[in-house]
Formats: sequence, structure tokens, C-alpha cells
Amino acid sequence: PLHPVAAFDRIGEENAFAVLARAAALAAQGRDIINLGIGQPDFSTPGHIVEAAIKALHEGQHGYTPSVGIQPLREAVAGDIHRRFGLDIDPGRVMIVPGGKVTMFSAILMLGEPGAEILYPDPGFPIYRSMIEFTGATPIPVPVREENGFGFSATEALSLITERTRLVILNSPANPTGGVTPKAEIDAFVAGLANHPHVAILSDEIYDQFLFDGEAHTTLLAYPEIRDRLILLNGWSKTYAMTGWRLGWALWPEGLFDAARKLAVNAWSCVNAPAQFGALAALTGPQDCVAEMVAEFDRRRHLVVDGLNALPGVRCAVSKGAFYAFPNISGTGWRSAKALATALLDEAGVATIGGPDFGVFGEGYIRLSYANSAANISRALERMDAFLRKPS
Ligand code: PLP
Repeated sequence: PLHPVAAFDRIGEENAFAVLARAAALAAQGRDIINLGIGQPDFSTPGHIVEAAIKALHEGQHGYTPSVGIQPLREAVAGDIHRRFGLDIDPGRVMIVPGGKVTMFSAILMLGEPGAEILYPDPGFPIYRSMIEFTGATPIPVPVREENGFGFSATEALSLITERTRLVILNSPANPTGGVTPKAEIDAFVAGLANHPHVAILSDEIYDQFLFDGEAHTTLLAYPEIRDRLILLNGWSKTYAMTGWRLGWALWPEGLFDAARKLAVNAWSCVNAPAQFGALAALTGPQDCVAEMVAEFDRRRHLVVDGLNALPGVRCAVSKGAFYAFPNISGTGWRSAKALATALLDEAGVATIGGPDFGVFGEGYIRLSYANSAANISRALERMDAFLRKPS
């Protein structure tokens, strides 16, 4: 049989997709499954965005676009950053890509190689570690701790930097914890980076609009002293409920932009043309759709967190961002969070993801996405309550 090269033995997966498949298989057998496993908004893409893409198709936008994206969209990204943060970015360094994931893939591929070390948040998005291992670089987890409100610790991250460190990955608001790193912590991290000029930063800000309790987003773009080594990852998937459109954007520093462009030319040529016109409408059109979605997520957040804290043996911090709750289940008697997640799916019909699927520091936790209706969330919590109270 054919075999891929050895690097493919080291590439990982995202267990959320496996849980989704298992939940779908159980549902196909007639089981009533409530899916709190998948991290995608349960809303439809706002109508004016859909209409803009359809219009583009009718108007003949059927060909290749520039590999870096259509110019009006690159400018609209810069305009959006200016509107939201009062910051200027060069549209010439903005790249439109088929999903936020593509930016982490590209950045890790560009900076990872045997002998290099890459720091990444743990628990964190599983693809970071998977891609680091794929390149042969050494993954160095930066623990994300409940006692820090699941924020990134500047002191801990800085202490892990060596002369072999090439890249540090940050993600706030964070998947899977919903944690938000306070501005003071990011200030301290950036200040410490002055001692490590060889280190690049990948800031994954895909959840930057999913913030609650009046919290403001701290973008790494706000620090001019690291602009020449900052890669910014963002996109439309979460903010505008467009996960299936496959659209993201990156801001590349001068030294890496051309490599990113060449990767596009070699791998995907350009992003789907009508989708780019939809993305343009998303950024230039009304923004109340975003505020409405965030307000709905906020209502569900309280429902989930309050409900989880009422379960026997479960303790859940109030998540400040994204749309995930990351309850501590160590008081339930379940030693393995993955075993609990599997039992919840098989026996209670509730899909969640075990914390260890997000890294070694995820043991003792499960992730629930509240991208589901309030009614389904309430039903899921009732089932979990009954399940955890059942004598084993
Ligand atoms: N970054 C984080 C932290 C995510 O949670 C996700 C999606 O789940 C992505 C990036 C990828 O987003 P996209 O669907 O645009 O590739």
C-alpha cells in the first residue's frame, strides 16, 4: 500500500469533527442527540451577506482573483480595523485566505523545522500542536490555568522562551476555555519580548468580537514595537456565522508576506470569488447582526454557566469570551474527562468534548459550546444532571 512521508505520522486532528460524526451516527440510529460539541455559530449568515455573494455570481465573478484577495476586501479589512480600534494597518500586507486555519498552517509551516521550538496555549486549539509536530519543530505548551481566569500568563510564557524559540502563539478570547487575557498581561508579554527579538508572534484573534460584560478586545496590533514580527489571524467564520464559506484574513509582517503569497499561489490560487464579495458586504454593511448574535450568546452563557454550577461535582468559571464553557469536572468522580464526554454522548445524548483533546492541561475539564438554542441547552443540562446523579 501507499504511504505518505513520515511527517504525516505526526499530523493530528480536531476531535470536534470526530464527535460531530459520532453524534450524527447516533442521531441516524434514531437517538435524540443535543450537540454542544461543535464550535460554530448556530445562526445563518446574515441575509445581506448572502445576497452580495449571489449578486457577485450573477454579475459574472466566476474567475480567479488575485492570490492575496480582491483589493476592495483587503482595504475593507484595514477599514474595519480602523473603525474598531482606531489603528492603521497596510492593506498591502493583508491576505484573504480560505479560513482562519490557513493562516496558522502557513505561519507554522514558515517558522517550524526540526530544532525550532514553538510555544502554544494548552489547553488550546488542537491544530496548533498538530501543525508544530508536522514541521518537526518541538511544541512547548504554555499552560492556560483556571486560576488565571484561563488567560495567558506573560511570566510563564516568557520563562519558556529560549534561543531556539521561533514563534509564540496567543489566542484571546480563547478556545476551548472562553478565557480572555487581560490587557496588563499582554502589555507585560510584549514588554518582555523586547529581550527576545528573534521570536515571532501569531495572534489568533478569531473570537475578537465575542466578548461579554463590557470587556474590550486587546489586539496585538496595538503594539507598534512588535509589528515587524506579528502575524495576525482573523476571519469571518465566527463573527458573521460563515464557517462553511471558508474565509479568513491575515496580516503578515514584511518579512513573511511574500512567502504567504507564494504558498497561496502554490496551494489554493485564491479564495472563492463570490465568497469574497460576501465578505466585503459583511465588513462594509450594517454591524447590528454581530451585536445581536453576541447578545444571544451572552444570554446562553449565563444559562450554561449557572446550569453547570448546579450540577453535582461540577464547577464552572464565568467565561468572558468566545462561546465556550470549560467546567472543571474533577469533583464528579470521573478521573478521565474524555471518558465522561464519551459517556455523556452515549448514555445521556449530549455531545461535549473532553478537555484532553485540547492538550494535557485540559484533563479534569470538558468543553461545551453554547452555539445551540437556549431550549436545547436547558434540556442538555437536565440530562447531564440526571446522568451525574445516577448511582454508578
Ligand atoms: N482559531 C481558533 C481558536 C478556532 O477556534 C478556530 C475554529 O474553530 C479557528 C481558528 C479556525 O477558523 P476557520 O473556520 O476560519 O478556519
